[in-house]
Amino acid sequence: MKEYAKEYRGNLLKKLSRKKSGSKPSEVLEAEKIIAKYNEEQEKIGPQLFRLESSECPDSICPQCFYLRGLNVHLKTIPGDDEIDKYQCPECNSIYEE
Ligand SMILES: [Zn+2]
Repeated sequence: MKEYAKEYRGNLLKKLSRKKSGSKPSEVLEAEKIIAKYNEEQEKIGPQLFRLESSECPDSICPQCFYLRGLNVHLKTIPGDDEIDKYQCPECNSIYEE
């Protein structure tokens, strides 16, 4: 093997060995987080669509918790004014008016 080829081989071997054993670059870690979040959201969409299409939220149950998470959380009455009744969800803190 020619000297330049030996040198090239030695350098590349060192460089790739370092790369293989080193930790993942931050942009790769960030991209993996984004992909994991996307996949998690995609998995939830099926059941969420099913609930939206097939069921009606029962009275005094938080619609957000009901449709997005499949939970039956009772809303609490909070102070509103004379004309409007206000309700808050103790789970997700959403506020609804009627
Ligand atoms: Zn809620």
